[in-house]
Amino acid sequence: SSTPQWLESWTPAGGARRVRTLFSQAFDGDTPDGVWFAPGRVNLIGEHTDYNAGLCLPTALPHRTYVALRAREDGVVRLVSAQTPHEPWEAKLSDVEPGSVSGWGSYVAGVAWALAAAGHEVRGFDAAVDSCVPFGAGLSSSASLEAAFAVAVDDVDELGLAATDAGRADLVDACRRAENEIAGAPTGGLDQSASLRCAEGQALLLDFRPGLSAVESGRPVPFDPSTAGLELLVIDTRAPHALVDGQYGARRASCEQAVDLLGLENLREITPDGLEAALAELAPHDADGILTRRVRHVVTETERTARFVDLVSRGLVAEVGPLMTASHASLRDDYEVSCRELDLVVDTAMAAGAVGARMTGGGFGGSAIALVPRDDVERVANAVSRAFADAGLPSPAFLAAPPSAGAGSV
Ligand code: ADP
Ligand code: MG
Repeated sequence: SSTPQWLESWTPAGGARRVRTLFSQAFDGDTPDGVWFAPGRVNLIGEHTDYNAGLCLPTALPHRTYVALRAREDGVVRLVSAQTPHEPWEAKLSDVEPGSVSGWGSYVAGVAWALAAAGHEVRGFDAAVDSCVPFGAGLSSSASLEAAFAVAVDDVDELGLAATDAGRADLVDACRRAENEIAGAPTGGLDQSASLRCAEGQALLLDFRPGLSAVESGRPVPFDPSTAGLELLVIDTRAPHALVDGQYGARRASCEQAVDLLGLENLREITPDGLEAALAELAPHDADGILTRRVRHVVTETERTARFVDLVSRGLVAEVGPLMTASHASLRDDYEVSCRELDLVVDTAMAAGAVGARMTGGGFGGSAIALVPRDDVERVANAVSRAFADAGLPSPAFLAAPPSAGAGSV
């Protein structure tokens, strides 16, 4: 059918009720010390810029992972999740190290391991997890899982990190290390920063230039589409991510090759005004034009992100649409990371009244976003659902995404 499927977010009370019930079922009627949550995220603009010392602009979803947790004194971690009901997980914290654990609990135990490695005293715990962040949709369910545990452990073990932005930057680092070194998934910190450092009605401008402190590299930016009568929609295409790993590596390699040929440290050193000269310098080494297209995307994407931030900082939210759509065209034509489903969402949403739309995340599937006048939301969702049905594609899922709070306690 082509009726739009909405993926509703839970209220904090609803999320807390779920994990408290799951906790008492899994752990003999016990009650947890508390309930904590952390959101998934979506990137508004600035794609494939993180590993190029550029800018990006994530915002937190109202869709969150919830955790009910109770500390233990024996250093054991026991976990259950409503999303993996047949995979309860258990380990001793002292046994956790790179290569020693696997499965979904490695994201969680990895956070405790990284905090301990940073010199904090961390106890074991029993915990129950439930989440309305879809897995593998490019909305960072993994970072929301890590961040929910980071603030829970921070609270029960009285680390005091979640109380300040500088402390949250330390929690980001622990979550990033957990995912890289214990779960074994490469990630640059964008997702964890968004989940831990975003706030309601805001986006987070992340600057990946080397040499900035963690606090300097993240700056809140006001972003509230409702003030302009707009809504932010996220559309999970549910497209299978084919060939993503190789494609991602190939894009990074092209960027590194261009940096080497130009004798630079990173592509951020190319200013928008210097782009033509840089491309001319690359041309003799770039018969197929690939380096030209990749570099052009990276340089113009950081410039678009800066312009987006400038507009929303001046209260001109309704004017960012063309920057989003230009970002999509650049990702599709120059960076070549879009796919049929993502292009179909963007083209259909724009034709049905969106003021801007683009793929978000790494590409080749995952999700798209659209900024839509409030009164056109149903029409856009209907049009996208119908277009997918007509094309014989699986139904996409829609998420309403007002910029929401970062990780905290319920
Ligand atoms: P995403 O884009 O959603 O972050 P990832 O592949 O990075 O996709 O992370 C998804 C993985 O994170 C899942 O396969 C699972 O191992 C783990 N995960 C995330 N949320 C949960 C949860 N609520 N319960 C159990 N595991 C989870
Ligand atoms: Mg992830």
